[in-house]
Amino acid sequence: MTNIALPENIEKLKAYSSAKSEKLTGNTWLNANESPYTRLLEMRFDNLNRYPDPQPEAVIEGYARYAQVEQSNVLMTRGADEGIELLVRTYCEPSKDSIAIFTPTYGMYKVTANTHNIAINELSQEQLANEDTDALLPAIGEAKLVFVCNPNNPTGALQPIRKVAALADKLKGRAIVVVDEAYIEFCEDKSCVELIKTFPNVVVLRTLSKAFALAGLRVGFMLASESLLAPIRKVIAPYPVSTVVAQIAATALTSDALTQMRRQVSILNLAKKKLIQWLQNSEFVNAILCGEGNFVTLQLTDKQFVQQAMRQGLIMRPFVLFGEDNWLRISIGNEQELKQVETWLKQCQVTEEVS
Ligand SMILES: *Cc1c(COP(=O)(O)O)cnc(C)c1O
Repeated sequence: MTNIALPENIEKLKAYSSAKSEKLTGNTWLNANESPYTRLLEMRFDNLNRYPDPQPEAVIEGYARYAQVEQSNVLMTRGADEGIELLVRTYCEPSKDSIAIFTPTYGMYKVTANTHNIAINELSQEQLANEDTDALLPAIGEAKLVFVCNPNNPTGALQPIRKVAALADKLKGRAIVVVDEAYIEFCEDKSCVELIKTFPNVVVLRTLSKAFALAGLRVGFMLASESLLAPIRKVIAPYPVSTVVAQIAATALTSDALTQMRRQVSILNLAKKKLIQWLQNSEFVNAILCGEGNFVTLQLTDKQFVQQAMRQGLIMRPFVLFGEDNWLRISIGNEQELKQVETWLKQCQVTEEVS
């Protein structure tokens, strides 16, 4: 024990349990919304004695082209998670400011706010979807950052661009609307990226971890007006991405690689439809949230089916949603992995009949 007193907000933190930190054993991993596709890369480096380019030009140029924005509107980060943290560190004052989130949503907004002693104004996904912007404002309160995960993890819900624009308009000069587009490649035409040209208080978060199949690389991007990014450029570490990472990221943004990514996205979107059909036909599924993204979230009739899957080496992500603990998120894997889901769904049935 160091016996050194911790700040109260740090003392109270629970260790973040990510899909990977749980040390589960299995052979089919459908719990972290990763891509089933991987590439074998071989690279040579003769410049690792030098510090990297703080914002590697080839990557910034490639991503700006892909996202159809100016290079000055792109900031490369160590995953979208670092983008979330940079926004909190730059724009929120500890023990004074707050953020707003719409639950259930991605867990890192809360974790990041907690680690920086920032309060959380919690609204619901239902409010976001059903109430008009004026009605949301009282609960958003004085929040400096309003996180709209779009499509939302884990519900798949997608807000129309006009809704995000209305929110940004109402919050102009008061708060930043953070549109987390980690899954946007699965519904490419629904991106809010064009809003950064009209609204200086909109930032779009992107990642190479999902559709680009590079979760292990840790690369994300913030897309926003120059004025929004300027203070963040002062806060970000001097060398956030290594030379090795930058070189690999650049290869993911060539036009051939983009074509391949889009082809994989259409295969995964088709597979998702098939999975949804199986789930609809299963008597052990109560409800299915089939939105956008490379995952499907569903409510089982009994959560013991999840344990059965685990025993078969099939790892999916259990969730407590809307106060109930029998929800499950299944990432869209390859054909063989989804076959295993189909088999499991049928075996739930067999177990029921026997007992
Ligand atoms: C996976 C995910 C991220 C994290 O992206 P990284 O680039 O891997 O840090 C961010 N937001 C959402 C909604 C996600 O699902």
